[in-house]
Order: sequence, then C-alpha cells, then structure tokens
Amino acid sequence: EDLSAEVVYSLHFRDYQIKEMLGKGISSTVRRVTEKSTGVEYAVKIIDISGEKGEITQLDQVKKDTYREISILRMCAGHSHIIELHDVFETPTFIFLVFELCRKGELFDYLTSVVSLSEKRTRIFMRQLIEAVAYIHDKNIVHRDLKPENILLDDQLNIKVSDFGFATVIAEGEELTELCGTPGYLAPEVLAHSMYENVSGYGKEVDMWACGVIMYTLLCGAPPFWNRRQMMMLRAIMNADYTFNSPEWDDITEAPKNLIQKLLLVNPKDRLTAKDALKHPFFHSQITEEKLFH
Ligand code: ADP
Ligand code: MG
Repeated sequence: EDLSAEVVYSLHFRDYQIKEMLGKGISSTVRRVTEKSTGVEYAVKIIDISGEKGEITQLDQVKKDTYREISILRMCAGHSHIIELHDVFETPTFIFLVFELCRKGELFDYLTSVVSLSEKRTRIFMRQLIEAVAYIHDKNIVHRDLKPENILLDDQLNIKVSDFGFATVIAEGEELTELCGTPGYLAPEVLAHSMYENVSGYGKEVDMWACGVIMYTLLCGAPPFWNRRQMMMLRAIMNADYTFNSPEWDDITEAPKNLIQKLLLVNPKDRLTAKDALKHPFFHSQITEEKLFH
C-alpha cells in the first residue's frame, strides 16, 4: 500500500494512530484513525499535494481546491446531517482533513447490500438529505456532487453529506458554468451549458436534480438515466427521459413518484427547492394518499 512513513509520522505527531483504509478517491486516500489521548475514532482524508512531475500550477490548484473544501466545510459546520470536520493540518507533501467517522460507510454500499429501499427507509434518508441541502443552500453553497458514494452513514444510519470537493459558494444572481460532478447525476442545465453556446449557467437547482436521481435509485435499485453509451445517457438526462417501469415500480405508491417527478424537471425554475420539497406529501404521508392525488 501507499502508506508513507511521512503520513504515519505526521499523524503520530498529531496524536493519531493510523488504521485501515476506508476509501480512495482521485487525489485522496481516506483511513480510519484513533486519537490516542481520547481513544475516539475518526476518518482522515489524506490529500497528496507533492506532485510527481513537478507540475507546479496543477499542484497549486489541488491546494487551492482543498482550502476551498475546508472553508466550505467550516461554513456548513453544525448541522446533524453534514459531515463534521474535526481537525486540519498539513505538511509540505500532504493536507490532512480529520472527519467524524461514519462507521456504516457509503449509502452506495448500503443500497448495494439491500438492492432497494422501502418507502419508509427512503423517506427517512431523503428527509435528512434534503434538510442538509436546504441548510447549505441557505448559505448559498452548492454541493455539485451529491450521489450515494458521497453520502455516508453513522452508527444509527443517520445520513452525513460529505465530499465538498466540488462545492462552491454562489453569489446572489451568479451563474455557475463549470462542468463538474458525476455523469449520471448531472442536471440537464449543466450539460446544456457545456454543449451549446449562449445557454445560461446553472445554480443551486442542480443539487435538487441529483436528489431526484438519488431518490429514484434508492427506491428501485437502478438509476433513472442509465445507458451503456454515454451520449445516449446524456441525451436521456437532457430530456428527463425516464420511466417508472414494471415490475420494480409496481408496488411503489404515488407520493414518492410524484416527488421524483417534481425534482427531475428539465427546467430548473420548475424544480422543487429543498425547502419546498420538505413540504411534499411524501414526507407527510400519514395523510391518506387518495385525498392528495386523486
Ligand atoms: P473524494 O473527493 O476522493 O471522492 P471523499 O471525501 O468522497 O473523497 O472520500 C472518499 C471515500 O472515503 C468515501 O466515498 C467514503 O467511502 C470514504 N470516507 C470519506 N469520509 C469518510 C468518513 N468520515 N467516514 C467513513 N468513510 C469515509
Ligand atoms: Mg467522493
């Protein structure tokens, strides 16, 4: 494994004992650690800023991006469904972000292990997720990479939104233009902007689109816009071309389908905001569904 003496020593110097690997991203490795003085366990994200070929400009970018991630994590601190940053330190080679540990891992792995979720379980997860999104949107933060791999679960199966690596602060009236995120979760307006000239940028609504994709995936165990050929998948996204197909959707009630429909709308202006989504009947479905939908 790529565990360098410098990593072990730096963590030791900061009072952490290093344990097994929890995850690996493009530019980072995440490991479990124990704080020696307290015995409390954390997850440390170790970001390599040394670079192998001395590409200084690109490295500066990694460093800048990490500082942005840290500042956004600090802006979001204090919400029960957003990952908590416990400690930060750096050496010339690495930046270390120490997070609260989510022992139950990624929502992605949880979903894989159970194939699909009940409406009741989906309601609990989606409420927590959208509450977290409402909180960050209120602070004018857009996450831009919501997906089951970046949603972690603690011991009690509480959701913790994590990986703010693509997150950004958006000014009032500002439009974002970068193409970033993960293909299957990209909102139509992000694709439209990158494909056509003179198409306006995008905003917070992209996170609500991703919530729609996540919710669909949780309920039926398969994503709404999957195609072996990526161009076909992107075209399906841009037309919101998805179905509630048999047999997976047969036993699923109207309320969740209706919420998904109001999230997977091509026009971002028509899409539910996080605040409004929390008012949707799906989250208050003690009320009989016939009354609301028929
Ligand atoms: P990247 O930006 O490289 O995707 P992430 O922050 O998403 O980095 O972390 C990569 C993976 O590491 C996650 O998908 C998850 O499996 C694991 N991980 C990250 N943070 C934690 C944590 N606090 N507790 C448990 N596992 C974590
Ligand atoms: Mg990630």
